[in-house]
Amino acid sequence: MQRALVLLIIPLFLWSCSNQKETTHSVPPMKSSALSFDPHSAAQSNAIVKHLNWTAKVDTELEMIFATANYTIQTKPDAEEIVLDTKNLNIGEVRVDGKKVKFTLGENVPYLGRALHIPIESSSKEIEIEYVTEANAEALLWVKTEGQAPFMFSQSQAILARTWLPCQDSPSIRFTYSADVTVPEGLIALMSAENPQQKSESGKYHFEMKQPIPAYLFALAVGDLSFKSLDERTGVYATSEVLDFAHAEFQDMPNMVNVAEELYGAYAWERYDVLVLPGAFPFGGMENPRLTFATPTILAGDKSLVSLIAHELAHSWSGNLVTNATWNDFWLNEGFTVYFEQRIMESLYGKSKAEMLATLARQDLNATLAELPAEDTHLKLALENRNPDDGMNDIAYNKGYFFLRTIEEKVGREKFDAFLKNYFQSHAFGVMTTEGFIDILTSELLNTEEAEVIGLEKWIYSPGLPSNTATVESGELNKVDALRLMWEGEEIQNNDLPWNNWSYQERYRFLSNVNFNLSLSKIQSLDADFHISKIGNSEVLFAWFMLSIQAKNEAVFADLAQFLEKVGRRKFVAPLFEALVISGYKSVAVNIYLHTRPFYHSVTQNTVDELLEWGIEERK
Ligand SMILES: [Zn+2]
Repeated sequence: MQRALVLLIIPLFLWSCSNQKETTHSVPPMKSSALSFDPHSAAQSNAIVKHLNWTAKVDTELEMIFATANYTIQTKPDAEEIVLDTKNLNIGEVRVDGKKVKFTLGENVPYLGRALHIPIESSSKEIEIEYVTEANAEALLWVKTEGQAPFMFSQSQAILARTWLPCQDSPSIRFTYSADVTVPEGLIALMSAENPQQKSESGKYHFEMKQPIPAYLFALAVGDLSFKSLDERTGVYATSEVLDFAHAEFQDMPNMVNVAEELYGAYAWERYDVLVLPGAFPFGGMENPRLTFATPTILAGDKSLVSLIAHELAHSWSGNLVTNATWNDFWLNEGFTVYFEQRIMESLYGKSKAEMLATLARQDLNATLAELPAEDTHLKLALENRNPDDGMNDIAYNKGYFFLRTIEEKVGREKFDAFLKNYFQSHAFGVMTTEGFIDILTSELLNTEEAEVIGLEKWIYSPGLPSNTATVESGELNKVDALRLMWEGEEIQNNDLPWNNWSYQERYRFLSNVNFNLSLSKIQSLDADFHISKIGNSEVLFAWFMLSIQAKNEAVFADLAQFLEKVGRRKFVAPLFEALVISGYKSVAVNIYLHTRPFYHSVTQNTVDELLEWGIEERK
């Protein structure tokens, strides 16, 4: 997944769903037989799922999925029940080896939902669950735009798969699946599986996912979509009005896959396609295997934001192939992926582009470190009784990246690459804990002296950034900083800034560091001269809106409101609302949110609800 920004004023306790009253029960104790303790799943290791046969009917009118989940299971001799995670699912009949059984649903636990207990015997082979999703299932967003076909997509990470599939929703449990999905005529269904490239007349689609995946990678999208191939193993899905634009923007994708394979070994998932979702998608991208789900905000028109595709592609190794055992080990998914993304970018676009990105990553990381409580800045997190979403920030991504880069610089790139390639191969389709990785690191790569110099314990279990963190330097961004200071000090004027020659990274660097206490007319002159409010690059636009809010440049608020109406990506939406609140514009924020909230996915809603204390009266 693409990184999210950290927000200043979010209380530690996030509401998982504003439409739902939740009581505060503590997490039930895990049985001693638990595989590896996952605080966010009720699954037990003595009975686990191995394969799913999913039959589903997607009703875009009712905004519900009517489904049957048939699982092949694996049991140990002491197994008396199999436990699945569910949240807001209406469970109908449950059968074990074809025979109806009496199941029980546990108490509703905040964030986690209700554990589904199904009695089995150690000889049981198969469980079958009939169920219906609720209209407000948190993973699913049903997009209805006047004059357009309905669109639906899922976002299961971290623990939302359980809101549309009863499942063992722990990243440590993998299963293969096949699916038969019926959708309204004229629409196509796509999954994290072998996908159709054309619509079927009947609205029926069959899917096979032969490589085992954890539940958070179970994904579905339904819409009026077309496909266009890039080469024999990559392509793009999008609505017809976006397809050609996206196809042109992603021209480098086949090369990216080749470069990634050269770095860390064969691509294990056969095809790599990208699906462009509506603007309401809450993330930059989601690495659903075989089919990355992506925000349309990366379609800048000049391929400038393709690092996001490099990131999601890199997850095909880090995360999807070798998976964090629990969300406390999330940096294993994301830190590795940022490192890998950087290497792809360097191979394709050169060292100086990659160093610009790394320098901006450091800028973001510094801001995050200044905002988060110290205990949340460890690489290894302790998210028990919390929403795992709390750990989805720059620490996992960028502190993780700098840890790996520091190791690379200590041992040398050649040695580190050989180690990583072997790591992905040896642990393919497996799970990894932080402790397990450190063991591998010290037995296969680092000698005692190197391990001590790097300070592994400090990196993993201490707050902040160790003093030996690899330094990054970008000549281009240094020049931007120097020019900005001269511009702020009136030594140079707007026309002395090489704005039109700057890459998006340089523009972003400039705008995200401008002193917002400068005179309003000086800030506004940037827009007058460079037309920033109308720019196509969402990152630059975001930096401009942030600066404008802080500088009280109300002239852009209409454009800002428009942006927030069509973009639901949390990385942009949440900091913008937060900046409005901090800068004394809470009523402006509330007025905008009144219109935009229904358009956002629950992931974005939950964060902004908290920021704006939305619906606090109903929640009491
Ligand atoms: Zn990611």
